[in-house]
This record gives sequence, C-alpha cells and structure tokens, in this order.
Amino acid sequence: MSTRKSAPAMRPRKPRKTTGKKGPSVSRKPAAPGGASRKGSNTARLSPAQLGLGDMAPSEFRTAARQVADLVADYLERLESYPVLPDLEPGSIRAQLPAAPPGRPEPLDEILRDYGRLIEPNITHWQHPGFLAYFSSVATGPGILGEWLAAGLNSNVMLWRNAPSSTELEEVVVAWLRRMLGLPDSFDGMFTDTASMSSLLSLAAARHVVPGLEARDEGLAGRPGIGRLRVYASAEAHSSIEKAAIVVGAGRAGLRRIPVDSEYRMRADLLQEAILEDRAAGWLPFCVIATLGTTSSTSIDPVGGIARICERERIWLHVDAAYGGSAALAPEMRPLFEGWERADSIVVNPHKWMFTPFDASLLLFRRPEAFRDAFSLVPEYLRTPDTGGVHNFNEYGIQLGRRFRALKMWMLIRYFGADGMAARIREHVRMARELASWIEAAPDWELLAPVPLSTVCFRFKPVTDRGDDEAARRRLDALNEAIMQSVNRTGEIFLSHTRLRDRFTIRVSIGNPRTEMRHIRRCWELLREAADRSVRAVS
Ligand code: PLP
Repeated sequence: MSTRKSAPAMRPRKPRKTTGKKGPSVSRKPAAPGGASRKGSNTARLSPAQLGLGDMAPSEFRTAARQVADLVADYLERLESYPVLPDLEPGSIRAQLPAAPPGRPEPLDEILRDYGRLIEPNITHWQHPGFLAYFSSVATGPGILGEWLAAGLNSNVMLWRNAPSSTELEEVVVAWLRRMLGLPDSFDGMFTDTASMSSLLSLAAARHVVPGLEARDEGLAGRPGIGRLRVYASAEAHSSIEKAAIVVGAGRAGLRRIPVDSEYRMRADLLQEAILEDRAAGWLPFCVIATLGTTSSTSIDPVGGIARICERERIWLHVDAAYGGSAALAPEMRPLFEGWERADSIVVNPHKWMFTPFDASLLLFRRPEAFRDAFSLVPEYLRTPDTGGVHNFNEYGIQLGRRFRALKMWMLIRYFGADGMAARIREHVRMARELASWIEAAPDWELLAPVPLSTVCFRFKPVTDRGDDEAARRRLDALNEAIMQSVNRTGEIFLSHTRLRDRFTIRVSIGNPRTEMRHIRRCWELLREAADRSVRAVS
C-alpha cells in the first residue's frame, strides 16, 4: 500500500473546518445609514476614485490588476495543496459575511484579503487535477487571459454595429471550431452560455419550422386543431432536454424517452416505432435529440441511423454532444460520431472538455434562417444600416446582450493549436482506457459501461459477495457509496456517481490538462484502499 509519501505533490493541506466565527476584517454589522459601518480610519487607505464620482483610475487599476494576476497565478500554483472538496457546513461562509452591503467604500487590499481568506479556500476546486467528478470544466491559462481581455473591452455582442470585431471574431472562431471538429462548411453557428440554452434554442427553431404551427406568432395554448408537440430523446438524455421541452410548450408529457440498448444507446428501431405510433395518435413529432456522450455513462446514440429516420420523417435532429463532441478534435475519434454531420443543430460545450473557462457553448446549425425567423425582432431602437454579410447575433436567440466569448476561444486555440488540443483529448482518452483496463483486470471490481471517451463507470463487487437479490444489491450500493465518500474525504480526489441499471455507479471523468497519470494511479490506489477498509469493517 503506498502512502501519501509516494505522491508528495498531491498531499492536500489538512481540510480546514470553517467555524462560522467572525473573521478579523469582515464586519457582520449592518451598515449604518449613510454607510458608517466602519471606522473612519479606513478613509486613509481609500483611493481618490473611491472618494470621488468616477471610476478607478487606470494607474490604480494597473497596480491592482497585477495583484490580481499574482493571486490567480498563486492559486494555480498551489492548487494541489487544497483539498478538492472543502470541508464545510452549509451556511458557514454566509455567516462570515455581512448581511448588508457596505455603505462606505472599502480599501481594495481588504477586499482582496477577504477573497483570499473566505472565497478561494472555500470553493470546490474545479481547476484541481484531482477533480474527476461530473464532467470537467477547467479554465486554462490562455482562456483565463482571454476572459480578462474580454472583461476589459466589455463588448456586448448583440449587433455588428456595436461589436464589429467581436462579431466577426465570433464568426471566424465558430468556423475554426467547425473545422477542428471535422464538420462540413454547411454549418453556421454561434456561442451561447450553456448547452441548456443551445438545446432550448434548437428546440424552438425546430418548432418554428413545423408547417402551419406558427407558434411564434400565435402561441400554442387554447388553439383548436393543432396536435400536441412530441420530442424524442433517449432514456439517458440530459435533463436540459426536458427543461427545453417544458419551455417550448411540449411539456414533460411531450417528451418521449426512447429505451436504450445494453450499452445505454438509443434504440433507433424503437424511435421509428414511436414516431409512427404517435403520428397515428395525433401527436405532432417535431424534434429528435441524439446524445453523443450521455451524462451518466457517455454512451453514444447511433446518430447515423437516427439521422436517416429524421430525414425520412422530416423531423429536426438536434445532437447533444455537450461533453462528447470535443472528442472529435482528434480525427481518429470521429468515426464514433458518424452521421452527426446530418443533424440540423449540434451543441458542443468548450467549457466542458475544451479547456475553456466557463461559460462557452458552441451551437452549430445548418439552417440559420430557422433560428433567425424564430427569434428575430428588430424594434426601431435596434435598427442599424448594416444589413447582409454579417451576423447580428441577437436575432438568432433569446438574449439581446451577449458576452464576448470568442476572444478566449481564439486565444486558447492559437495558444495550444488545434493539434495541441487534439493531443490533450487523446491523452485523456488514453488515461481513461488505462484505468478501465486496471478495473477490468481486478477480480473485485467491474466496469458498468463501455468507455468510448474519457469517463469510466464502475463499482466494487467483491468476489465474496456474488448475491444477486435485492438485499445484495442494496449492500453493494451502500458499499460503493461509502467507498466514493471515503475517497472524497481524502481531499486528493473528487469523484461523483450515477445510477446505471439501478446500480450505484462510481464515475471517473478526465478532462483537465493538469490531470496526469499519477493522479489516475493515486485515484485507483485510494479506491482500493477504501474498498479494503470497507471489507475489513464488515468481516
Ligand atoms: N448535455 C449533456 C450531455 C450534459 O452532460 C450536460 C451537463 O453535464 C448538459 C447537456 C448541460 O450542460 P450546461 O450546464 O452547459 O447547460
């Protein structure tokens, strides 16, 4: 058994328990009227801008920005000294913050000190190389720098007129990504905040092209003579699809979940049957969602077969590749997704497995006019003389104001290069496969799903406990939950779980360029140590 000594760089700082005691520099007293919550002595430490009516002066900003850059660099340097999961009670941070805002300005050094004392140590560290839970969402250096530059410009990318270079950079970066994913030029696209939003917009566009429905102009409720909207997704599809069905007026009852096969992939034959059955019963099938990389097991729906059905039945095909799509950066992974190029819309989240600071979701579509016709409203105050040749991106979705996300993507694609990004994807897939091979070779452990991408689903199942009745199942669930929690308590690794065929399933998901093989080895070591302890405890 190796000890933490064998992996010195991963030794976490002892988890700090936040006591809820008042810290030295944060007053919990409400600010008095006029802002007299602090002693007047602070005034000497305030900058002239804080005493006047303007913004922070550029010279002050320069000094403060250097301080902030140091804070972030220090954080990234000492990431591994933090426990991935802070050991906190809910409410303990709030208890240390004043309930009322300060009436008077506060010195910046004091604000930054509180950040260092209360905020930084008490987050769950998504940037940590031992964060192997959920799907990764990491901010790499060039992405962070891009976010900072975008914040400085504060460009609101709603119309070309008020965001010319940001609009055109978005057009260029969307095209770069489309190429990097091996998708045809027939796809146009844009960035949104999340896959949830990208899927919602896609369902709304799909609804818009249903002949005679006119939902945009006429609404749906109370209209006689129109069929009920039907959306199809696999039993394993993400909850964001259900939320989108709610918002576009299909409702939860309008989402028909198609059963999956033994590897958690949508049964295309059952999809076909469902559509025919629904049509005969008066439903209005309008959208199918194929998931490439489901949230629980990362299964990949047979998108080629699904596309054929959608083409035949004239139903919009939306592909949710929020996590999995990034795998296509590596050309050898693309056969997994064969047929996705026939989709009407596709979502891939750079903020999941493309090393991009949250948020950035890439929405690609083959019929831009469906989105524009579904959403475009141009009141007089938004009318500009610039028509044609460029996007006024607000017309393709719900939001008028939009963040300048292309800048960070542009920076990180140029910094790593398309080949460098593909190499990282390849390495994550390799590490996941290696972990899967250890699990397969261990008699007391079992894989619970294939590993097509960089996520491994498995559980501990001791050879001595082969019962298959309800009691045995519950025993194994409890055992695996205890193992996962025990690993999470070490602070070195953070894992999450799901249920596959009603079995508690531990997941390891790799997607952080800071994660190395040593972290995966350590994760496996911690899992086996925790399993040994659990077995000893019950024997
Ligand atoms: N689709 C899939 C397959 C996901 O796994 C997730 C989140 O993990 C989402 C959609 C939702 O992503 P977002 O948080 O960007 O809305």
